[in-house]
Amino acid sequence: MSKRRLKLMIPGPVEVEEQVLAAMGEPVMPHYGAKWTELWRDTIDLLKRVFKTEGDVFLMVGSGSAGIDACIGSALQRGEKILVPSNGFFGERMARIAEGYGLDVRRIEVEWGEPISTAVVEKAVDENPGASAVAMVHLETSTAIANPVEEVGSIVRSAGMLFVVDTVSSLGGLPLELDKWGISLCASASQKCLGAPPGLTPVAVHPEAWEKIESNETPHGWYLDLRVWRRYAREWADWHPFPTTTATNNVLALRTSLERLLEEGIDKRLARFRGLAQRLRSGLREIGMPPFTSDEDMVPVVTPVCAPEGVPAGEVVDYMEQVHAIKIAPGLGQGLADKIFRIGHMSPALTEADIDRVLEALADFDVGWRG
Ligand SMILES: *Cc1c(COP(=O)(O)O)cnc(C)c1O
Repeated sequence: MSKRRLKLMIPGPVEVEEQVLAAMGEPVMPHYGAKWTELWRDTIDLLKRVFKTEGDVFLMVGSGSAGIDACIGSALQRGEKILVPSNGFFGERMARIAEGYGLDVRRIEVEWGEPISTAVVEKAVDENPGASAVAMVHLETSTAIANPVEEVGSIVRSAGMLFVVDTVSSLGGLPLELDKWGISLCASASQKCLGAPPGLTPVAVHPEAWEKIESNETPHGWYLDLRVWRRYAREWADWHPFPTTTATNNVLALRTSLERLLEEGIDKRLARFRGLAQRLRSGLREIGMPPFTSDEDMVPVVTPVCAPEGVPAGEVVDYMEQVHAIKIAPGLGQGLADKIFRIGHMSPALTEADIDRVLEALADFDVGWRG
């Protein structure tokens, strides 16, 4: 069983830096007490700096979807109207989560592969004066399209609605300023641009969102209720500032990756990601497998690629794994699965050499590779 270690080039989970992985191997600590509470507070403070918020940040054990679930379920009550402009798989997931809470969900369908325009949101907001919230994905990872969160934020804020954003694949990879952009609630995940193993979801709440959360009258469980998380953060602040056992090693790993992000500097990190993305895009054009999105729509952390004419994209994905031990991702949804594959490059551990290795492997692709 001497299989080569698989190189992850998918849009999460990502390869993590050595120091981050080492934190996973530390002896297990108790999840309470003075020492742990200090490490925890530190981690929350680091997250606030990355989210660029002075509001509350909670760190839940769970995947990014759990965090989104907590945001929507905590802030909105059964029957309330929520507008969900969506241009991909994860936008649709936000709509499903909202439906799960019995909300009156108005989907605003935008073509997959196109960004959500401010005009579309403006129209929807005008036509639905009774709506309480707008929910939108920042980086729609399924199609590698970034949506204009800052601009939409100002529309939503002017309308006096809540703005819930899925920042699962954008935090640490795209510019994001929670307070400045007027984001009421958002959630991310440890295993994408933050460069830690899967298992944790950071959730951020703007101070102005609490009134709405506190007035929610429909019961929605306990674990994902943000009121519970705030209560423990306050009442057990000095020894156990969260409601349940936490994944201590995952927290230590995330803390390490956040420290490394802030040491490098957020702007520098984002510029490094952009440089790698550009290197990938120009290399892809050279080998005749051009990016599926235009340079204008480039996102720095995931690139959709057109499979060679007449070759199902899945063939390229299989070839990369079986011949080169590089895991890339298939296309997702709406007729794209056969035409495109996706290369994830959201890991802080990634280097130019990794990009070149992917390009060399792709350049060697031959339809007869199965022999
Ligand atoms: C990966 C991803 C999710 C799902 O995250 P999980 O951690 O798997 O729950 C949601 N939204 C976006 C934009 C993603 O990229």
